[in-house]
Amino acid sequence: MKVTAVYPGSFDPITNGHIYIAERAAAVFDEVIVSVLVNERKVSAFSVEERCEMARETLGHVKNVTVDSFNGLLVDYVRQKRAGVIVRGLRAMSDFEYEFQMALMNRQLAPEIETFFIVTDPKYSYVSSSSVREIFHFGGTVEDVVPRTVYERLKERYNDE
Ligand code: ADP
Repeated sequence: MKVTAVYPGSFDPITNGHIYIAERAAAVFDEVIVSVLVNERKVSAFSVEERCEMARETLGHVKNVTVDSFNGLLVDYVRQKRAGVIVRGLRAMSDFEYEFQMALMNRQLAPEIETFFIVTDPKYSYVSSSSVREIFHFGGTVEDVVPRTVYERLKERYNDE
């Protein structure tokens, strides 16, 4: 049986930590859909289209990964995609509580969907989209934690302000 996994997130922007998780998920599941959450209530740095483009540009080398976006309930989207699995990444214990709660909530809503956690590489354990944006904004070095194309977009996005 073919197993499709959805890897949802804000990806604002995608970082090497996200890419690491998507690559590892792709080695386990037949298909992985990296799915950008459209959240009208949350102000994002990049538009959904830009976030999808960056994800496509940086995950093009992984054949069984596709990029999509969604709004509404995650479990509805996962069902609509006929996927059986939600993938999330864990960086530290601080991620665990939130992720655990969300996984339990999703199980309550959709018992047939399984949440899988993939542990990050230690070198990305401190990397988050928000820290990348902040460090870049204040002139710090982010080239080690985001792909080149994302770095270029950060320059376009913030140096034009
Ligand atoms: P969300 O707003 O849904 O948390 P993010 O884009 O911040 O979206 O994260 C999506 C998923 O990727 C989450 O499971 C998060 O824990 C995971 N993640 C984020 N950064 C990293 C990283 N550096 N290493 C591993 N997993 C990560």
